[in-house]
Amino acid sequence: MSKTSSDVRHTSIGSSASKRKTAKPAAKVAKKARKSALLSEAEIREVFRRFHAANPEPKGELEHINPYTLLVAVVLSAQATDAGVNKATRALFKVADTPEKMLKLGEEKLRDHVKTIGLYRAKAKNVIGLSQRLIEDYDGVVPSDRDALESLPGVGRKTANVVMNIAFHQPTMAVDTHVFRVANRVGLSRGQTPLAVEEDLMHVVPKEYAMHAHHWLILHGRYVCKARKPECWRCLINDICRYPDKTPAP
Ligand code: SF4
Repeated sequence: MSKTSSDVRHTSIGSSASKRKTAKPAAKVAKKARKSALLSEAEIREVFRRFHAANPEPKGELEHINPYTLLVAVVLSAQATDAGVNKATRALFKVADTPEKMLKLGEEKLRDHVKTIGLYRAKAKNVIGLSQRLIEDYDGVVPSDRDALESLPGVGRKTANVVMNIAFHQPTMAVDTHVFRVANRVGLSRGQTPLAVEEDLMHVVPKEYAMHAHHWLILHGRYVCKARKPECWRCLINDICRYPDKTPAP
């Protein structure tokens, strides 16, 4: 017997409903798998206990003299290495360690100082722009709150987090490429954007470790959990980390 159009419609609705029925448990299973790949509270505490034991007072590697030079160094460091920035700023900060002195130096001479750093033209422009704004709106003093910092030229969320943490001792979580990678590999977060990882970390990192957490994660990513070939054989959290493709000892 041939099917009527209503039979066909009924069959089609029935089949998509049954698909939904089977899809729901599958989505639940996937969600559960993602969750189980995350570290437990006790494991997270142990990760940071070990980082702390190995390096109780981790320091950022960008050289600076005061909050202003820190801000300038962080702006210059986007998509550049800290070592490359330090090389350029050593001489720069001798002649310009305040917004006033930076404006006196001028954009052209500033460009000369930082021309070894990637995107130096745009960065020099931003440094001059933010120095101007600091003088006009903040009496030449770097503000400590996020909104004010993020309103300055060339200053995004990550830069603000670094300055708030290092210069003003606030427990912020600056997520750069290292922190993003390490957090996802280890199982501290499954965030797909820097902001999502930042929010996860702010939520799960135990309070007593929050001040230094981003430094530990950056240094771990820079020297051990490297992007291409993580050195898992000498990693102090190897037995806790959830990364499935750990590198064997050479
Ligand atoms: S075990 Fe390997 S992947 Fe995991 S944190 Fe250590 S270096 Fe990174």
